Amino acid sequence: MPGKTLFQKIADREIPADIVYEDELCLCFRDINPGAPTHLLLVPRKPIPRIALAEDDDQALLGHMMTRIAGIAQKEGVSENGFRVVINNGPHGGEAVPHLHIHLLGGRQMQWPPG
Ligand code: AMP
Repeated sequence: MPGKTLFQKIADREIPADIVYEDELCLCFRDINPGAPTHLLLVPRKPIPRIALAEDDDQALLGHMMTRIAGIAQKEGVSENGFRVVINNGPHGGEAVPHLHIHLLGGRQMQWPPG
């Protein structure tokens, strides 16, 4: 049995994090190295390694997470001006932690295209 991922350890309170939302399927906490005034990571409790490895059985979980974003953004005060959600997948995507996570970035003007 493989060891726990970093984000499973956060979910299990083995590593501290500033958790701003959680429910039975997912949790959301502040990124330790924020790239914007608001930078959150929304993570499923299930350790799906990356979005490219999500399966048909994960549809409800992924839909649940996507529909949590609006409420979290509202609570963080970034709804009115807008925000960005990002999923990095694999080396060219810039993925560093192999446990699916949705970045929620806000509090400043985002640029396009991303670097
Ligand atoms: P990614 O590059 O998409 O895999 O994003 C991984 C993110 O996890 C980065 O933005 C890191 O700053 C963040 N991160 C790494 N370790 C921690 C931690 N212990 N607590 C909160 N965020 C973390």
